[in-house]
Amino acid sequence: MTTDEQPPLRPETRAITAGRAENDSALAPILWATSTFSAPDLDEGGRLATASRPTRFYSPRYGNPTVRAFEDAVAELEGAGAALAFGSGMGAISSVVLALCSTGDHVVVQRQLFQSSVLLFTGVCPRFGIDVTVVDGTDSDAVAAAVEPGRTVLLFVETPANPVLQLVDLAAVGAITGPVKVVDSTFAGPLVQRPLEHGFDLVVHSATKGLAGHNDATLGVAAGAPDLIDWIWRYSTVHGAAASPFDAMNGLRGLRTLAVRLRQQTETAQRLAEELEDHPAVARVHYPGLDSHPQRDLAKRQMALSGGVLSAELAGGVDAVRHLASRLRVARLAPSLGGPETLVTHPATTTAVGLLPEERAAVGVSDGLIRVSCGLEHADDVIADILGALPRP
Ligand SMILES: *Cc1c(COP(=O)(O)O)cnc(C)c1O
Repeated sequence: MTTDEQPPLRPETRAITAGRAENDSALAPILWATSTFSAPDLDEGGRLATASRPTRFYSPRYGNPTVRAFEDAVAELEGAGAALAFGSGMGAISSVVLALCSTGDHVVVQRQLFQSSVLLFTGVCPRFGIDVTVVDGTDSDAVAAAVEPGRTVLLFVETPANPVLQLVDLAAVGAITGPVKVVDSTFAGPLVQRPLEHGFDLVVHSATKGLAGHNDATLGVAAGAPDLIDWIWRYSTVHGAAASPFDAMNGLRGLRTLAVRLRQQTETAQRLAEELEDHPAVARVHYPGLDSHPQRDLAKRQMALSGGVLSAELAGGVDAVRHLASRLRVARLAPSLGGPETLVTHPATTTAVGLLPEERAAVGVSDGLIRVSCGLEHADDVIADILGALPRP
C-alpha cells in the first residue's frame, strides 16, 4: 500500500473477513467434500505431487480448499505467515513435536499442561530418546535456566494452563533464544492473546474448543512462520493427523462468531467467579479475572479478556462435587470447553485421571476441583444453576 494507507482492521473484524480466498463470492464456507482432485495432464499431476501444500491434489495428506480457508483465517488472526490444521488438538501437538524433535534432542516443557500433552512429553518422547526437562511454567527464570544452548530444540508451554489457569509470561518466555518456542493457547485464543507478537515461534490450538466453538468439530491448528509450517507439513504427510474438510468448515463458521461468544462467556465467567469466591462451600476460585489470581497483573498485561473458563475447589471434596453434579439443571457434566453449553468437568476423575497422583497434584488437580466452561446461556441462569447446586454448609 502507498500513501493512502488504511488503518488496520480490528481483530473482531478480521475474524469476519479472514479466510475467504478459496470462497469465490460465497459468504459461508464452501465444503469441498472430496478426498482427491483430477489433474489435467501428467505434467501438472507430477507438479502437484511435489509442490508445497497444494490444496487441489489429495486432501488427506496434502491439503484441501476448505481446510486451507480455515488455516488462512487462523494465520491471519494470530498474525502468522501460515497455519496448518490437524484432525484434533493432540494431532497438532504430536505432529509439531515429532516434526521438530529427534533422538538425542532436549526439550523443555511446563509442568502444568493438558493431560495428553503431559503423557506425550513424559511417556512418548522418552521412548524415542528425546530428553525432556519439566519446569514450573509460572517461573520464567526457571524456564530460561532449563534451556541448554545448542541442545534444547523445543520449548513448550500452555497459557492459561489446564485446569487451574496458571499463566506463563509470554514476553519473558518469548524472549528466550535458541529453541523453537511453542505455546498451547487453547484456553485463550487469538482474540485474547497473540503469542507470536511476544516472540513465540508457534501457537497451537485445540480448535475443537473455542475456535470452532459449537461442540461440533474435532480440529487442531498450529500457526507460525511459513518455512516452519512447511517443515511441519512435510512431516505431517506421513504422520497423517489431517483435518477433515467438514470439521474445517465448522471451524471457520465458528471463527466468525468468536468475538461475541467470547465476550458473553467472559462476562458470565467473571460474575460466576466472583459469586463462587464469596460462597462458603468454595475453598478457592482460579480465574485470571479475579484480584485473588496470583498472576492478576500478568493477566492484565497479556490477556485482552479473562476468558470463559474458571475452576474452583469445593471445600467438601469429591462428595461436594458429587452433590453438585447431581443437581445441575442447565450446566452439563462433560469434558471440553468453549462451546454454547456451560460444561462442568471433574478433572480428578476425567481429564486428569490418566496422571499419577503426584502429577495430578503438580498440575493443581485436587479431588474437590471442578472446571467450569461458561457457555452462551443467560448468565443469570448459569450462575443460579451452579450456586444452587452447591452443598449448603
Ligand atoms: C483439549 C485440549 C487439547 C487437545 O485437543 P483435542 O482436540 O482434544 O485433541 C490440547 N490442549 C488443551 C489446552 C486442551 O484443552
